[in-house]
Amino acid sequence: MQYLFSPERVIFEEKALSYPLGKELYDKFSQSNIPMEIRSSMRVTDLAGKNPAEKYRRAKKILAVTVKKSLSFSTCKPSAHYQLPLSTSCPGLCEYCYLQTTLGRQPYIRVYVNIEEILETAQKYINKRIPQTTLFEASATSDPLALEPWTGSLFKTIEFFGKQEHGLLRFVTKFTAVDYILSAKHNNRTRVRFSLNTAHIIKNHERGTPSLEHRLNAAAKIASAGYPLGIILAPIFIYSGWEEDYENLLKVIKRKIPSHQEKVLTFELITHRFTKRAKNIILERFPQSLLEMEENKRQFKWGQFGYGKFLYKKEDLGKLKNYFRENISTFFPEAKIEYFI
Ligand code: SF4
Repeated sequence: MQYLFSPERVIFEEKALSYPLGKELYDKFSQSNIPMEIRSSMRVTDLAGKNPAEKYRRAKKILAVTVKKSLSFSTCKPSAHYQLPLSTSCPGLCEYCYLQTTLGRQPYIRVYVNIEEILETAQKYINKRIPQTTLFEASATSDPLALEPWTGSLFKTIEFFGKQEHGLLRFVTKFTAVDYILSAKHNNRTRVRFSLNTAHIIKNHERGTPSLEHRLNAAAKIASAGYPLGIILAPIFIYSGWEEDYENLLKVIKRKIPSHQEKVLTFELITHRFTKRAKNIILERFPQSLLEMEENKRQFKWGQFGYGKFLYKKEDLGKLKNYFRENISTFFPEAKIEYFI
């Protein structure tokens, strides 16, 4: 099943209309009933809604078509060398999403029309590090596959990396619009990772996203198109029955993924963590949330950006690490665990 994001409102930055993709999007949306407007500056402060929860949901239905101004790419540890910004925010409503904090009061969705300039910049970053290979992450601030049916930017980016000897692309998604990229000449230079979780976590905390079954069907199609495939289990939670649920999840993945892919399959494992600020924002936007964020069940650690996070306690992290190491090597002996954090 393909999820087509349908915005409630589309706002065009005037300058975006001078780019081919901006013009193309303007023409596409002109044929729909979706309200459109053109603004000279892109700051969207007039978010509709009576309370933070409603404002957030409504904002996630706004699509801003804009120009990426800063072409200086941020670093992207631990998954890549640099971020590759094709879009910001996404239509999903995952309660724990870290973009809630980083985007603050501006959670609306932005797509960047200056794709040629973005790829030219990527080329410069690649050239600077030759003979080393440079790895780019296209989903550090967004889920780019969710917006692909409108923009086609991921397809272009995949084909750009398909021609690179020293550049690799990766992105992660919970969405399923894979038909839009299946025919791209990826040349094995793009790794597509699916963010998966137990049915319990998806149902309770990953609102507005496709089901596990639909994500796995999309992953199987990606594998059949020969893309290197990855699985991100994130965030990993400890809750009553987690061991059995994650084991079942690994079994379902095993059934769905073609066995020839196991040699190149990667896993990235990210345990749940939160900041005090994130907790406040989440409870404001999802007042009924059942997300476990009890400080006394966690250890507090200062991070590299000058603020602290609540991680699982050392003994819990040890338990999780062993559990996933053992189970992944049982079900996928040839797969690689890239990192556990
Ligand atoms: S799909 Fe990813 S980017 Fe979108 S809300 Fe969920 S966690 Fe955030």
